[in-house]
Amino acid sequence: MTAQVIDGNALSRQLRAEVAQRAAALSARGHQPGLAVILVGDDPASAVYVRNKVKACEDSGVRSVFEKYDASLTEAALLERIAALNADPTIHGILVQMPLPKHIDPHKVIEAIATTKDVDGYSVLSAGELMAGLEGFRPCTPYGCMKLIESTGVSLKGKHAVVIGRSNTVGKPMALLLLQANATVTICHSGTPDLGYHTRQADVVVAAVGRRNTLTGDMVKPGAIVIDVGINRNDEGKLCGDVDYASVSPVASHITPVPGGVGPMTITMLLVNTLEAAERVAAQA
Ligand code: NAP
Repeated sequence: MTAQVIDGNALSRQLRAEVAQRAAALSARGHQPGLAVILVGDDPASAVYVRNKVKACEDSGVRSVFEKYDASLTEAALLERIAALNADPTIHGILVQMPLPKHIDPHKVIEAIATTKDVDGYSVLSAGELMAGLEGFRPCTPYGCMKLIESTGVSLKGKHAVVIGRSNTVGKPMALLLLQANATVTICHSGTPDLGYHTRQADVVVAAVGRRNTLTGDMVKPGAIVIDVGINRNDEGKLCGDVDYASVSPVASHITPVPGGVGPMTITMLLVNTLEAAERVAAQA
């Protein structure tokens, strides 16, 4: 058996086309969705991420406002800027690219964003909404992983899902979303003594570690769905995930590639969250 590839680029195209349609409908009613993207400093990887997000907005009819600040920007000045964007009715989502320079507290910044505009879903209130099963913004990467799993047509009900990694932005919200979809969920981390013992029992494995070859073929149950969130470089400097694709692909039923799996979906779900933020505002107008 060779696993069916879950094509994140194709699914992204489909979802972005739907976003573009709904954004056009909102714009026609005078509510064009707007996303503010803030970059502080000169981190080259962040600059690429931000460029891709702004371009995705342009392609989908979502207005983007890109603000770039010098690394010396004070925390107070950034908080002031966020307060102004919170009050701006043409802005429906606010994204501050992480990491921030050391003198700025990322928690303070995230909590300063109005919950109704927290399209990254990183604030404590958004996390609480997810935990309580209330309507709110889901963090884009795990939300995208759920869409990728849904696209296989396999129901999660009663399935055993193993999440490797417990970060606040990926692992933990991923586990909550899987739980909400009625999977039985196990969370593994760096303190888990025998990772393979857990993953071999999983119908679905989501790897979000940041270390290549964390999941190999001998650690996967035949027929499992494998979602690879990791972004790493191999010895040749090429992008690779946390999953050893060559040994896992013959065992799994479905697998996401790196690149072309989770990555494009993360930006797509940012567009979806921004669109939904604008739709909520338009519904109250
Ligand atoms: P993170 O904050 O560094 O968290 C990594 C998690 O992996 C931690 O919970 C850690 O456990 C766990 N871990 C480390 N070594 C392990 C091991 N040997 N066995 C089991 N668990 C282990 O990273 P993150 O932000 O969640 O991101 C994870 C990966 O996804 C990174 O490669 C990142 O670049 C990538 N990513 C990709 C996208 C995308 O759009 N494709 C988006 C976000 C992140 P402890 O908690 O015990 O330390």
